[in-house]
Amino acid sequence: MAYARARLGALPGTRLVAASRVEETAPLGPVAQPPYLNQMVLLETTLAPAALLAHCRRIETERGRERRERWGPRTLDLDIVRYGDKTVREPDLTIPHPELPNRDFWQREIAELEGEHV
Ligand code: AMP
Repeated sequence: MAYARARLGALPGTRLVAASRVEETAPLGPVAQPPYLNQMVLLETTLAPAALLAHCRRIETERGRERRERWGPRTLDLDIVRYGDKTVREPDLTIPHPELPNRDFWQREIAELEGEHV
């Protein structure tokens, strides 16, 4: 998470404005697995949504999508939950993220960030 925050904040034309608390949440879906840690960041950026997604994929790849060794890098998943008031409907990118209505923790994190910065 620290790595992702640092990388996101250093992207071209981008500033990390705020970060929510880190929240531990139960895994989603049918696969038995340990809980996850979630955090939402608020960015100001001149990057278009597709360019931001490309950077997110690169950052995920840099950290590895699997945990291969004990104490090694853990899987990192970056989602674009919202992009201002913009709506995007592309084959590989939907904004607002379609899971937003189903994820209470995202809604809590948005409220936390909006309370501080809007
Ligand atoms: P996953 O890693 O399973 O969360 O899926 C990532 C893929 O979902 C990305 O490579 C995107 O093509 C696609 N996707 C669609 N909408 C979004 C979004 N709002 N944020 C991130 N990924 C998205």
